[in-house]
Amino acid sequence: MSTKQGVALVTGANRGIGLEIARQLERAGLSVAIGARDLEAGREAASRLGPRVEAMRLDVTSPGDREAAAERFADGLDVLVNNAGIALGGFDPTVVRRTLDANFYGAMHVTDALLPRMRPGGRIVMVSSRMGQVDCLSAELGARVLAPSLGRADLVDFVESFARAVERGTHERDGWPSSAYRVSKVAMNALTRILARELASDVRGLLVNAACPGWVRTSLGGSSAPVSVEAGAQTPVWLALLRPGGPSGGFFAEKQAIEW
Ligand code: NAP
Repeated sequence: MSTKQGVALVTGANRGIGLEIARQLERAGLSVAIGARDLEAGREAASRLGPRVEAMRLDVTSPGDREAAAERFADGLDVLVNNAGIALGGFDPTVVRRTLDANFYGAMHVTDALLPRMRPGGRIVMVSSRMGQVDCLSAELGARVLAPSLGRADLVDFVESFARAVERGTHERDGWPSSAYRVSKVAMNALTRILARELASDVRGLLVNAACPGWVRTSLGGSSAPVSVEAGAQTPVWLALLRPGGPSGGFFAEKQAIEW
């Protein structure tokens, strides 16, 4: 594994893939902050890793926690891994709102809060999913979200049009899947492309990419998933440690580029 010094933050890292990403980044030489919405759970997780791992309270849906995170990394951040995510049972407007808030808006607002803190050579990783590939949408919606000119306001509009369609009961007719999780990851992927475009002219040489960890044995993935957390963490960690000149604005699984 390549080594890198510096400071990393992994969101939702008190368990599952996030915890394993934190473990592998620490092993690679970084100091790692485990973001956890339950600080005690974060501390307990950090105590099982090495001396360079600390916990911090970070509910990605909390503006106050995000501001505190920006304060904490006033001296700079080298790696940000947006890993926190939920996959709720059921499908209704409440599930849609909670899922979009955690999986999409959470990652977007955490990234925006920490972008000014990213040091030259910084890396941003979105832990996404193949469930967010655009083939889950109608051709028209797929073309809309893949448009090279898609901006942030367009993306928020896209996501909110899904939430409104679910409220109206027209989402299937309108070309959306009956899965808030899928749409949240479609949006996370689109955000990755937008950020990469925005950062292309940034002098710091920041790289931002999305990863699918595979179907991983965690509480989210379930016990019959074929992939271990150790294997699932490898592609996100590889993207977090990319050397200068590496890809930006891509979507990867098993360290290979995959289709949006
Ligand atoms: P997991 O074991 O359920 O862990 C999810 C983590 O996210 C937990 O630490 C959880 O904290 C945290 N979290 C949830 N909402 C949060 C919030 N609002 N703020 C901060 N942390 C929050 O799931 P996992 O399988 O490791 O999933 C990690 C990521 O991989 C997710 O983004 C998921 O979509 C993605 N992924 C997983 C699979 C899979 O097969 N497992 C496949 C593709 C993608 P609490 O302990 O407080 O709940």
